[in-house]
Amino acid sequence: MGLNIRQKIFLSFILVVLISAGAVFTIYTNSVRVTDLSAEITHQNVRSIVLAQTMLQQLLMSDWAVSQFQLTGDPSWINMSYKAQQVFKDSWREVKILATDERKRELVAKVKTLNQRYVQQTHSVIERIQQGLINPQHQQYFRDETSVLQAIIDCLQTLITLNEGQLYSRLEEAQRLKNWNQGLSVGVVLLVTLVSALLVFILNQNIISPIARLMDGVRKFANGNFTAQVPVMSSDEIGELSGAFNIMAKNIKNDRQKLTALTITDEKTGLFNYRYFKQTMTEEMKRAERYSRHLSLVIMDIDFFKHYNDTNGHNMGDLLLKELAALLKESVRETDLVARFGGEEFVLLLPETPVSLAFKLADNIRLRIKNHAFPMEEKQPNHDLTMSMGVASFPAKNILTPDALIEKADQNLYRAKKSGRNRVCR
Ligand code: GH3
Ligand code: MG
Ligand code: MG
Repeated sequence: MGLNIRQKIFLSFILVVLISAGAVFTIYTNSVRVTDLSAEITHQNVRSIVLAQTMLQQLLMSDWAVSQFQLTGDPSWINMSYKAQQVFKDSWREVKILATDERKRELVAKVKTLNQRYVQQTHSVIERIQQGLINPQHQQYFRDETSVLQAIIDCLQTLITLNEGQLYSRLEEAQRLKNWNQGLSVGVVLLVTLVSALLVFILNQNIISPIARLMDGVRKFANGNFTAQVPVMSSDEIGELSGAFNIMAKNIKNDRQKLTALTITDEKTGLFNYRYFKQTMTEEMKRAERYSRHLSLVIMDIDFFKHYNDTNGHNMGDLLLKELAALLKESVRETDLVARFGGEEFVLLLPETPVSLAFKLADNIRLRIKNHAFPMEEKQPNHDLTMSMGVASFPAKNILTPDALIEKADQNLYRAKKSGRNRVCR
């Protein structure tokens, strides 16, 4: 992903906000539905049941009042019956409004028709009683009226049962929604947790880990590991930083290598300098001592170099030193070390080499130099440019330190000079 860190964090934030908002919206919508459903239940079904029961009561009350009139002949009972009928009709009007489905509307209509018939019948009976046409004591006149009454009661009870049924199913539905909402809430919490964990994982992969890798590289570099490099895994700020670090580390490493090369190289000849020779020799001596190995040293000095300088000039002397250094370099083995010891003196350090072999090697080099055609060598005292050499080896009697080995080789060089030059002494 070619996104920078700010974009990555912003995207993660948006994702969490979107999921949370979606979840909250769904839970809220469901809660509203549960509340609505509860309100509807109370309003429609419970109210319908209460009204139907009121109608039942009032109907029975009205009928009872008529019976009382029948028994007592007291007209105030008729009044009471009318009142009960009034309440019955009021309730009926409300029940009608609440009857939302076909079945209920049918029942409500039937109740109205039946009640009208009941009222008519009751009226005619009351009128006939008042006119003295029938004897109120005779129950058979009411038989017809009673069957209508029963039909109304049946209708109202069916209405109540119907509403109860709906009430229960709606309660169940509300309960189901509530359960679903609870499940959803748990699910959403799990989802948000999961998404957050995933985001943390992704951010860790994209930001924290690369920073840790970068820090690891910087730490290694700070501790002196100048070859330390950091993998560049992305094109964001950390990727850029890692790339920049790698370039910086490489430059520093190269500069250091150049600097190190400068500190161990002799400027004039390109050979190793005295310091590097001395350091290497000390290490090689320790190694030879520890593992009981041979170590040989050859010190070489140009014969009559002062003469060469005096005859051909100092610049020609310098050129000769260079040419000689190149010759020495190509005359030694890969494991040997050749260095400028100082002035017109050179040293050869020969690990794993006993004195006899060192002598042989040195003499071969001496011969090679003698046979090499150096410029102006014919002007030398012996018409040739030659070198004298002193060889010393470890282990040997009284040679316990690097300085002792150098001292011994130097003594042998002095002997070579004294005994006529152009030779190797051991
Ligand atoms: P010997 O055979 O006894 O070694 O005689 P020599 O003349 O070589 O020895 P001596 O020690 O008398 O002289 C060494 C000369 O080397 C003197 C000095 O000017 C010269 N020399 C030392 N270093 C350099 C250098 O870097 N360049 C040049 N051109 N000459 C140098
Ligand atoms: Mg000298
Ligand atoms: Mg010399």
